[in-house]
Amino acid sequence: MQHILGLRCTICGAEYAAHEIEYVCPRHGNDGILDVVYDYGAVQRALSPRLLAANTERSIWRYFPLLPVSPEVARSLAKGTVLGHVGWTPLYPASRLAAALGLKHLWVKDDTRQPTASFKDRASAVAVIKARECNAAMVTTASTGSAAAALAGLCAAVDQRCVIFVPRTAPQAKVAQLLAYGAQVLLVDGSYDQAFDLCLEAAATFGWYNRNTAYNPYMSEGKKTAVYEICEQLGYGELRAPDVILIPVGDGCIIGGIHKGLRDLAALGWIDRMPRLIGVQAEGAAPLVEAWEQGLEGWEMKPAAVHSVADSIVAGLPRDRIKALRAVRETGGAFIRVSDEEILAAIPTLARGCGVFAEPAAAAAYAGLVRAVEKGLVGAEERIVILVTGSGLKDITSAIKAAGTPALIAPDLEAVRQILGSL
Ligand SMILES: *Cc1c(COP(=O)(O)O)cnc(C)c1O
Ligand SMILES: [Zn+2]
Repeated sequence: MQHILGLRCTICGAEYAAHEIEYVCPRHGNDGILDVVYDYGAVQRALSPRLLAANTERSIWRYFPLLPVSPEVARSLAKGTVLGHVGWTPLYPASRLAAALGLKHLWVKDDTRQPTASFKDRASAVAVIKARECNAAMVTTASTGSAAAALAGLCAAVDQRCVIFVPRTAPQAKVAQLLAYGAQVLLVDGSYDQAFDLCLEAAATFGWYNRNTAYNPYMSEGKKTAVYEICEQLGYGELRAPDVILIPVGDGCIIGGIHKGLRDLAALGWIDRMPRLIGVQAEGAAPLVEAWEQGLEGWEMKPAAVHSVADSIVAGLPRDRIKALRAVRETGGAFIRVSDEEILAAIPTLARGCGVFAEPAAAAAYAGLVRAVEKGLVGAEERIVILVTGSGLKDITSAIKAAGTPALIAPDLEAVRQILGSL
């Protein structure tokens, strides 16, 4: 918290000291999502591209001056635990995938490699520390699955209790992950949106620390670290922003966080361009695409009925819609929709093209790139990054649907010969 000036409402712009407010702008209730405001002069005195390049810490904890946590608390919890290994995921050049799409420069940011196998660890890591800073006995979140797994896993790492609300439609692998980590799991017989509202109510009633996306202002701050890493990884000792980043979007917290990270870097004078952010949604769950096409503001959006195979990006009223729309509008980006068929097809294409096995929501970023190329939204010479946000192991039912079933053979060489002959 060393370099934070305060919290600013994304609707009315009112500013508050960090200790005055727990979660949202009191004037706007649950919609009053806040931005965290830094003293960039102070950050510049504590950190520079050169210091970053020399830092051997390979996790999000290389960015303390730009994070809303107490470094002392974070260091003590992260030392020797899973929490110390969140972030600094690989950025792979994906030249075969690029060539197939007629592109020259494409990278895959592989967040399947997080401790609980999704991007959500970046936010949950911050939540676990904030909870400890206020000595919360219990932490809670609602989630379509990955945020819950991230919170449960990181809580287990630091011996923190948590209660998780997930819709009963959450994929089994994600629920198994939660139970294995020892979270108190409440499977809500309703939609994600209903689970979310119930969780907010329960947290307020029982005094639990609330990690919910787009309610807790610090979650974007965890998520923004991905773009710090991307710019460092592209820069060789300096920071270098790509031209375009494709991001799968459900609630909009990731895309909002990436935008915040870029705004930080621009304000610090460490990057010389603002990448265009392209948000990808599933056709059956595309409220942000619609709002963007119709020129609506986040606070004008109404809940929609939604469905998709990509469960992690199914949100009828995206909770971080204000930040998500702002991210795309202010960067001159776009929102695009992809069908469930395109999403499923993207799973094996991505896996075969660069060795990264993605869950449907994460594969949607690649499906979105295919569409973006068709629509002429990206140029052949541009430097493009796709964010792969969660592991394919989190939803094997979809993976099997996409990849097919293997050949079943008798245990003898003749059977192998026959199969090979038929190939
Ligand atoms: C949560 C999630 C997303 C979308 O993030 P939002 O912040 O909800 O937009 C995308 N992919 C995966 C794997 C996720 O878990
Ligand atoms: Zn406000």
